[in-house]
Amino acid sequence: MIKLGDAYDEQNIFAKILRGDMPCIKLYEDAHTLAFMDIMPQVEGHCLVIPKQPAVTFLDLSDEGAAAVMATAKKLAAAVIKAVDAPGFMLAQLNSSYAGQTVPHYHMHILPRHEGLELGFHARDPEDMAVLGALAEKIRAAL
Ligand code: AMP
Repeated sequence: MIKLGDAYDEQNIFAKILRGDMPCIKLYEDAHTLAFMDIMPQVEGHCLVIPKQPAVTFLDLSDEGAAAVMATAKKLAAAVIKAVDAPGFMLAQLNSSYAGQTVPHYHMHILPRHEGLELGFHARDPEDMAVLGALAEKIRAAL
């Protein structure tokens, strides 16, 4: 259960990715943020931006951390919609289990949207790594 005000858990999966203890399909990194492919995408091109600051929810992020996430999300969104030729996109971020958050390290979802194409289930169906890798190459090329 992830609750507002929870202490940061250094063993969460995104903390492990940030430390290099777990792999990810990296799209972009700077001093304050990391962006990578979501491995259970709800739509083609679904990716995540995380702050390097240890923060569970939006309320735990510093103003600088929040600004850094938004700046990276803006860069990434432009590249993702180009890579998958999407006419629209959503930014989404869930705070606490009550809102559906499953990983207790703050993250922003980037979700390309197309006419008539519904989103798949949240955090349920793993995508083939080769498919994600090929898509990541296109996104990185569009950055
Ligand atoms: P949330 O439910 O908002 O906390 O979103 C967590 C997201 O992380 C979900 O969309 C999952 O599919 C995704 N996810 C979980 N584990 C990993 C992982 N190891 N690498 C990339 N994405 C992941």
